[in-house]
Amino acid sequence: MRWSQGDFAAERERMVARQIAARGIADPRLLAAMRAVPREEFVPDHLRARAFDDSPLPIGAGQTISQPYIVALMIEAARLGPSDRVLEIGAGSGYAASVMAELAERVFAVERHAVLAERAAARIERLGYANLSIVVGDGTEGLPNEAPFDAILVAATGPDVPEVLLEQLAEGGRLVMPVGAAHGLQSLIRMTRLGPDRFERADLGGVRFVPLIGAHGFREE
Ligand code: SAH
Repeated sequence: MRWSQGDFAAERERMVARQIAARGIADPRLLAAMRAVPREEFVPDHLRARAFDDSPLPIGAGQTISQPYIVALMIEAARLGPSDRVLEIGAGSGYAASVMAELAERVFAVERHAVLAERAAARIERLGYANLSIVVGDGTEGLPNEAPFDAILVAATGPDVPEVLLEQLAEGGRLVMPVGAAHGLQSLIRMTRLGPDRFERADLGGVRFVPLIGAHGFREE
């Protein structure tokens, strides 16, 4: 089957209306970003026809591109502003990072699987997101040289929020991350930095993510 750009634009409109706006996400900048980023470019070729399914999809190395609604939910929770510096841990396909690159000033996205990071970087270069950098490594250490960040999004579940990431949040900054069992029940947590040693913790509800593997996450299985 052959697809035209127009087909995909219409599919993205439908995805935003039915899966995202209909579930209560209202921020117009975020909805516009999700209409603009070509999700079909972030899935393997043989899954293009399913790029707008209401579910995660495999992207190789045993990992997934998150469900569109979950991407929107996390980004909304992080309350990104146009002048924000953002860190994503778990770049995967680079899709969520690209949506954030539409909304923030500068985005760094760390991925531990080199093969996924290379593919993501090639896509991002092709699509022209000049304010987005993909970095290979263990994101549980953060990126101390680029800190502080106004927002940190972790796209994989850890046993708890790593202290070292909280230290890299700017005052007023938000960290959004699933916390819980590696293959069980998880809660989406938002930590807001109110002061040097003051954080507000909010539980945003149940989610399901792949495990965060690293020095301040789970061990390799
Ligand atoms: N945001 C991605 C989906 C990510 S799935 C997208 O839009 O496509 C979670 C990703 O986190 C996986 O690719 C996994 O390899 C990665 N990951 C797990 N532990 C990590 C760590 N310690 N550092 C960096 N990436 C990690």
